[in-house]
Amino acid sequence: MSESSVHKVLVSACLLGQPVRYDGKSKGIVSDWLSALGAEGRALAFCPEVAGGLPTPRPPAERQGERVVTASGMDVTAEFDRGAKLTLALCQAQGIRFALLKEGSPSCGSGRIYNGRFEGVSVAGEGKTTALLRRHGIAVFSEDQLAELASALSSGSMATDRDP
Ligand code: SF4
Repeated sequence: MSESSVHKVLVSACLLGQPVRYDGKSKGIVSDWLSALGAEGRALAFCPEVAGGLPTPRPPAERQGERVVTASGMDVTAEFDRGAKLTLALCQAQGIRFALLKEGSPSCGSGRIYNGRFEGVSVAGEGKTTALLRRHGIAVFSEDQLAELASALSSGSMATDRDP
C-alpha cells in the first residue's frame, strides 16, 4: 500500500456537490481545505445508495434496526447493504482509511440518524455504510468534523497545508 493511498479520503458524493440525494439535490459544502484535498486527487466521491442500485430521486428511507425502509413500508435493506459493501470494497481496493460522510443519512450518518418513524426526529446512531466501514477499521467523520479529520490526516506526512 502506498503512503499516498493511505491518506486518500472517501467522501459522500452529495457533499462534493453531486445531485445524488433522495430528493435529487446535493448537499455540497464550501471548504477551501476540502477543495485543496480534491485538487491533490485525495478526495474520492462515492454514493452508497446509488451504487447499491437505488434511483435518484428515490423515496426517503430510515433505519429500523438492521432493516432500512421507506415511509410507505418498502424494504430497501438489500440495496443499502449492497451499497455499504461496495463502499467498503472501494476503500479496501484503494487503501483508504478515512471517510467524510454526510451526517444524518441512513447510509452515511456517523453520529445521528432519524429514528425510523419518519417523524423528522434524529437520535444517536450511524448509517449502514458507516457501521460497516467502522467495523473494518476505517475512520468515519461527518461534515461537522473537518478539523478532526484534518488532524487525523496530518498525523501522516501527506496532509494539505491548509486548515479547514
Ligand atoms: S447515500 Fe450518502 S452519498 Fe449518497 S446521497 Fe445519501 S448521504 Fe449522500
